[in-house]
Amino acid sequence: MESYDFDLFTIGAGSGGVRASRASARYGARVAVADERALGGTCVNVGCIPKKLLVYASHYAEDFAEAAGFGWNVGERSFDWGRLIANKDKEIRRLNEVYARLLDQAGVTRLEGRARIVDAHTVSVGNQTYTARYILIAVGGWPTLLEIPGAEHAITSNEAFHLEQLPQRVAIVGGGYIAVEFAGIFHGLGSQVTQLYRGPLFLRGFDDDVRTHLAEEMRKKGVDLRFDCNITAIEPGPRGLRVALTRGEPLEVDQVLMAVGRHPLTKDLGLERVGIEPGSRGEIAVDRLSRTCVPSIFAIGDVTDRINLTPVALAEGEALARTLFADTPTEPDHADVPSAVFSQPPIGTVGLTEAQARAQFQDVAIYRSSFRPLKHTVSGSEERSLMKLIVDRSSDRVLGVHVVGPDAGEIVQGFAVAVKMRATKAQLDATIGIHPTAAEELVTLREPIA
Ligand code: NDP
Repeated sequence: MESYDFDLFTIGAGSGGVRASRASARYGARVAVADERALGGTCVNVGCIPKKLLVYASHYAEDFAEAAGFGWNVGERSFDWGRLIANKDKEIRRLNEVYARLLDQAGVTRLEGRARIVDAHTVSVGNQTYTARYILIAVGGWPTLLEIPGAEHAITSNEAFHLEQLPQRVAIVGGGYIAVEFAGIFHGLGSQVTQLYRGPLFLRGFDDDVRTHLAEEMRKKGVDLRFDCNITAIEPGPRGLRVALTRGEPLEVDQVLMAVGRHPLTKDLGLERVGIEPGSRGEIAVDRLSRTCVPSIFAIGDVTDRINLTPVALAEGEALARTLFADTPTEPDHADVPSAVFSQPPIGTVGLTEAQARAQFQDVAIYRSSFRPLKHTVSGSEERSLMKLIVDRSSDRVLGVHVVGPDAGEIVQGFAVAVKMRATKAQLDATIGIHPTAAEELVTLREPIA
């Protein structure tokens, strides 16, 4: 029998790679994981975690304003970007250490440096080579920059987390998760935000009512949303960056944030040595067990460009460990994956959009409610919430749940369990609401609107 240095060699210590490594070690495998950057990958260092901290920070502006209606006199306010970033960095460093400890406790060998595939069972890190029965590619993705004149003057989400100063005027390019989240962050912290999206309505792929509702709410708050408008060039000038547009006068801003998608980080990984040819976006194709075209090499997480979310990468990592080391071939389940967009107000969603449901089912019932949350009857805020259910009339099954409003992610996480269990509308109706909450609306929607 051949002997290898490790049973599993994981390239990339982000959410997916760390989970797969720890889970494999739990099943008794000898595991190594290599990364050239900080432990935790995108999510911990330049993604979910720091983003959510910045969202919390930015929401205080509204909280202070709304406090007056409840009798509070909030005094002079000022915001210190440097302090926020320093405190955020401190928490990220703590999480980096937690990741290191978790790997160490699991008995996983940690290697620092760029790993490259040498052959189907060999990986190099610096001058060292290691052999492994299986190799796992979990290198994640990287923000894409548009190829326009002056693109080098733009930043991506990676840099947005480390700016020296809060920009006074920001142009955000894109209409996906990252663009709307940063539009809310910068706006809340006091920047003047212009968001440019090339199509007629942002957040393509989300339910249309959700997209329209969020656009209205963001506009009400003062974000300058420009649809059917894209960036064509960036030029530095005496008073900032001049941003040329496909439509309208050029903008003058202090910072341009490009959030036009992310691409798998498959360059310079040695893939050509084993005959793995990435797709047009750089993604690695895998089968349902996350195996690449090379039997000993697997890939999970954003590098496979399936559903690019941390909890999905975790599930893929856990499933892979079972497949490889617990004698239980396990396909990760990509159905009914809930997600939240931490826009302001946030979105929570699970299951099908109305358009998807109509394409797949013959007779679909739509329940929808848009309302002013109780808090805002006194806070003075004009913000409205949206709740929407999509039901298959023939089976009564709830196909989709969509929420825009405070705590949407927290609300939908619970409803996602119900959707996963194939709950019916009758079962939602039989559930007693919790009063007064916004979420009770989802169990009291009686009359379909369509
Ligand atoms: P997305 O894929 O979500 O959005 C990319 C946006 O850029 C779209 O609006 C797209 O427009 C636009 N775009 C693409 N190409 C161009 C172009 N050439 N010119 C102008 N606009 C363009 O990517 P993000 O960068 O926002 O996020 C990457 C991924 O990270 C997400 O898909 C998500 O999986 C994950 N993520 C999840 C978060 C969460 O769970 N809360 C938070 C942040 C990221 P169009 O729609 O027209 O193609």
